[in-house]
Amino acid sequence: YKVFSVLGLPIHLMTNYPNWLLERLQQGEGTHVVTLNAEMTMQAERNTSLAKVIQAAELVIPDGAGVVLYLQLLLRQKIQRCPGIELAEKLLQEVERHTEAKVFFYGGAPSLAATAAEFWLSQLPKLRITGTHSGYHSEEEEEKLRQTLSQLQPQVIFVGLGVPRQELWIAQNRHLCPQAIWIGVGGSFDIWSG
Ligand code: UDP
Repeated sequence: YKVFSVLGLPIHLMTNYPNWLLERLQQGEGTHVVTLNAEMTMQAERNTSLAKVIQAAELVIPDGAGVVLYLQLLLRQKIQRCPGIELAEKLLQEVERHTEAKVFFYGGAPSLAATAAEFWLSQLPKLRITGTHSGYHSEEEEEKLRQTLSQLQPQVIFVGLGVPRQELWIAQNRHLCPQAIWIGVGGSFDIWSG
C-alpha cells in the first residue's frame, strides 16, 4: 500500500482494507484505524493530541468526500472513497466468515451498543460479540470497563464516542488489548440500532 499526506496527516491507500485488517487480526498485530474526513483534519489543526494520534495510527482511510477530492487533485487519479461505517460492516462480515475473533462494542447512549450488537447477531449469527458498553458513565464504570477489556481480550473493538474523544480514548487504552483492531466508529451504533 501507499501512504500520502493530507495537511500533515497520513492516508493509507490500498485496494482491500477489510482483507488487510483480517490479516493483521490473524497475526495479532494491534491496529488503530482512523476514518479521516475534512471535519477531523480541521479539528487536528487545532488539537495537537488528535493530530499525533492520527499520525501514529496504523491505518488511516479516506472516509470523507473532501479528503478524497483533495487526494484526487494531488495525485491526478481516481481514488476510491471508503466510508468508515462500510469498512466496519465489511470487517464484521469477514471476521464472522473467517475467524472466531471476539468483538466488543463501546459507546453511545445506554443500551445502544447492545441493540447494535443484536442487529449484527441477526445478520451474522456466528459473530462472537462478547461484550457491549454504553458511552456515558462515571470514572469508576470506566475503570471497570478497562478491567473487562483486559480480561476478555476482544480482538475487534469498535469505539463510538464521537471525534475526537474516540480517537484519544483508543490511543490511551489500546495497550489493554495490544493485539486488537480498534476502530472509532462515530455514530455507527445509532445507525445499526435503527
Ligand atoms: N457519545 C458517547 N459518549 C459521549 C459523547 C458521545 O457515547 O460522551 C456517542 C453518541 O451517543 C453517538 C456517538 O458518540 O452515538 C457520536 O456520534 P456522532 O455521529 O456525533 O460522531 P462523529 O460525527 O463525531 O463521528
